[in-house]
Amino acid sequence: MVNYRYLGSSGLKISEITYGNWLTHGSQVENDTATACVHAALDAGISTFDTADVYANTVAEQVLGDALKGQRRASLEILTKVYWPTGPKGPNDSGLSRKHIRESIDGSLQRLGTDYVDLYQAHRYDTETPLEETMQAFADVVRQGKALYIGVSEWTADQIRAGRALADDLGFQLVSSQPQYSMLWRVIEGEVVPASTEVGVSQIVWSPVAQGVLSGKYAPGAELPAGSRATDDKGGATFIKRFLRDDVLERVQGLRPVAEELGLTMPQLAVAWVLQNPNVASAIIGASRPEQVEENVKASGVTIPAELMTRIDDVLGDVVER
Ligand code: NDP
Repeated sequence: MVNYRYLGSSGLKISEITYGNWLTHGSQVENDTATACVHAALDAGISTFDTADVYANTVAEQVLGDALKGQRRASLEILTKVYWPTGPKGPNDSGLSRKHIRESIDGSLQRLGTDYVDLYQAHRYDTETPLEETMQAFADVVRQGKALYIGVSEWTADQIRAGRALADDLGFQLVSSQPQYSMLWRVIEGEVVPASTEVGVSQIVWSPVAQGVLSGKYAPGAELPAGSRATDDKGGATFIKRFLRDDVLERVQGLRPVAEELGLTMPQLAVAWVLQNPNVASAIIGASRPEQVEENVKASGVTIPAELMTRIDDVLGDVVER
């Protein structure tokens, strides 16, 4: 089963593996496969689910809500997000204004089929809205019982510090940050992790398998595997491209002996690696098939010895983004 970790300085425990539905639900995969993935996650002991209003233009929230129907609400932690910089039409259909936050949470709750989300996250930082306004709006959302905790995503160390300080003043808990983090993408280690640790904020990290690249299935010089995200013309292909370079793919193949030494598969090694960071509360895994959930979830509870952590650094060398 899956281990639990506290979210930041709060009393909320979340499963150290979260299931997320970006690019899959309402897009890459049919609804019955989406439901099968959610049920595989539940069967494996995952209780934390991450989505966003913007995923598949709101459809992903609906698909997740439908797939979770009938589950005991108290046994789930449901996470969603507000504000994506591009896309929506009207002038107030975006941003972190009081108006948009108020309207967005109601839409998310309706689609998810729940009275409250456990964690409501600012998907990006909005440079055009005063942070005070955003934080007051989040305080209202918490006071109204529509969200229990507040988080942010891809905010800088200074933005996290400022947000947390305002939240403390306003009397609600800003406890998480959701950044990209994997063996190949370690940008948060320099500033975001130290600042977050200092103020009681955890990381819930996205793309721990680098969107499938760290599974080792993309071999250098070979054709892209049929049906993989890299071949998905609905959006996945554009995001994964940064990793689809022969120098990266060759280094990734070098991780295979490390995984074998630990008795792990490559995706399990990738997920276990992000969980070695004590500031990480959970790794959000994506899946296009239930078997991927069943495989990746086994990374929970794995300890990678220091000597192998060093070997991973040596193998990957300068293809790591820091
Ligand atoms: P991953 O790095 O876990 O990539 C998941 C994809 O990798 C799967 O859909 C699958 O794609 C492939 N894969 C996974 N496991 C295996 C396996 N065992 N064998 C072979 N291939 C495998 O994470 P995601 O990029 O999906 O992101 C996870 C979540 O993070 C999202 O759902 C979302 O909740 C969150 N997120 C948040 C963002 C933010 O800005 N806050 C941005 C992006 C994501 P396939 O089979 O199609 O090749």
